[in-house]
Amino acid sequence: MKDCIFCKILQKQIPSKIIYEDDLVVAFEDVNPQAPIHTLVIPKKHIPTIAECHEEDYSLIGHIHKVINEIAKQKGLTERGYRIVNNCNAEAGQTVFHIHFHLLGGRLMHWPPG
Ligand code: 5GP
Ligand code: ZN
Repeated sequence: MKDCIFCKILQKQIPSKIIYEDDLVVAFEDVNPQAPIHTLVIPKKHIPTIAECHEEDYSLIGHIHKVINEIAKQKGLTERGYRIVNNCNAEAGQTVFHIHFHLLGGRLMHWPPG
């Protein structure tokens, strides 16, 4: 999708620290980390928000969660704990309109989130 920053990242038109890639997804480090570990996992398919998934997209969302769990394990977070966040639309604080899941860890997380 033209003018989408995350499409540009996955097409390597914008540099990022990519830590995992397969046919369906890319994972890279957030440029403005909110925790010692802050990784974003995105589908290669441009879907603006989680609310705009079609039936055929839900297996992709499941795959993203599998990849997140594998990255969390590699980073030693499995026992400690970690948070998976998806912000959907304005009130939730979504700023990039290409679905992404935040993997946050390495510090104590508070609840409720702000
Ligand atoms: P949102 O607020 O939409 O849930 O999250 C967007 C995230 O993307 C933010 O955490 C922000 O720091 C990150 N981000 C925005 N632009 C870039 C970029 O160009 N490179 C990287 N690595 N992360 C970005
Ligand atoms: Zn995109």
